[in-house]
Amino acid sequence: MNHKIIPADPKAGYLAAQTEIDAAIKRVLLSGHYILGPELEAFEKDFSAWLGVAGTVGVANGTDALELALRAAGIGPGDKVVTVANTVTATVSAIGASGAKPVFVDVEPETMLMNLDGLEQLLTKMRDPRIKAVMPVHLYGQAVDMPRLMSLAEQHRLIVIEDSAQAHGATVGGKKTGVWGHLAAFSFYPTKNLGALGDAGAVTSNDPALLEQVRLLRQYGWRKRYVSDLPGRNSRLDEIQAAVLSVRLTRLEIENARRSQLAQMYLTALKGSRLKLPSVAEGRTHCWHQFVVRTNRRDDLRAFLEKRNIICGVLYPVPVHRQPAYHDAALSLPHTEEACAQVLSLPLHPGLTDEMVERVAREVVNFFESGSASQN
Ligand SMILES: *Cc1c(COP(=O)(O)O)cnc(C)c1O
Repeated sequence: MNHKIIPADPKAGYLAAQTEIDAAIKRVLLSGHYILGPELEAFEKDFSAWLGVAGTVGVANGTDALELALRAAGIGPGDKVVTVANTVTATVSAIGASGAKPVFVDVEPETMLMNLDGLEQLLTKMRDPRIKAVMPVHLYGQAVDMPRLMSLAEQHRLIVIEDSAQAHGATVGGKKTGVWGHLAAFSFYPTKNLGALGDAGAVTSNDPALLEQVRLLRQYGWRKRYVSDLPGRNSRLDEIQAAVLSVRLTRLEIENARRSQLAQMYLTALKGSRLKLPSVAEGRTHCWHQFVVRTNRRDDLRAFLEKRNIICGVLYPVPVHRQPAYHDAALSLPHTEEACAQVLSLPLHPGLTDEMVERVAREVVNFFESGSASQN
């Protein structure tokens, strides 16, 4: 039997830097300082420098990063936040946790990112003063058209909070995601392009006042110990994870370059197949968090590959407005719904060899050439 090919491999990321990571963890263990110390400070500085942003505040996870960014910007009960429905529910649960309500817009059929024509129409038609913010999701590792989104936001006086949890290193107009909005949220969940060995996240911003708000909110609203200036929470990024992230950050550009190489291999090998391949919009770079193809035979193709020991992901099978917790029967988002029915993530991560990617591509071609696909 062929070696199993998995959709993501955080252990390979650990093994690639094992000596350094083990040393970093040991350093923290022996320091006796486990929460909000020098390791987190160093990581926040390194991440800001790498991203090209004024500041980073480490928090417990990506969902908290989104929620605390909203709260820092003053978004709360009675407010509405525009976002998309083809995202992890975390985007929407963070809006709910802030006290605000989500408003969904459809996506572009090509990129599957927020449709900015749709956003503009919604803002000019609804003229709803409760809409205070927009939360674009840089889905799969491709940036939303931020120059246009920022000018729309300025026109309508909206706060912009980027969900950059899948886009560590994606650029638009030569600048990385996470530097465009008033605030941005990153997740360092183990399978993300920059992953910790546990939960972690961060908020970035160029506005020192907003960064200070997030810093207060992540620890009970304390400016001074044991005295809350505002009703905060506990959402801290611990020293061990920060030390691991500092090591992993030094390899991020290399790993993203490898992702890009493997993506090019897929694009070449699958050109001319019946799959709809991912498209990268002009002026943007993709950081290939996911390599997402589309077909009406998605479930059959997935089962075919699984039988051959190739495991694919589906991000996301059910759009948020069709899930029980957020169900809205009156809302129709045709391009979002179509995308969720068709998308399949082919395995792509820096732990894959060329041969593995060739094998996946070969089996995909086999699927379409065999009887498996001829019934539709
Ligand atoms: C991973 C992810 C999140 C949530 O991050 P967690 O660290 O799991 O809380 C939010 N939005 C998107 C788009 C993500 O991919």
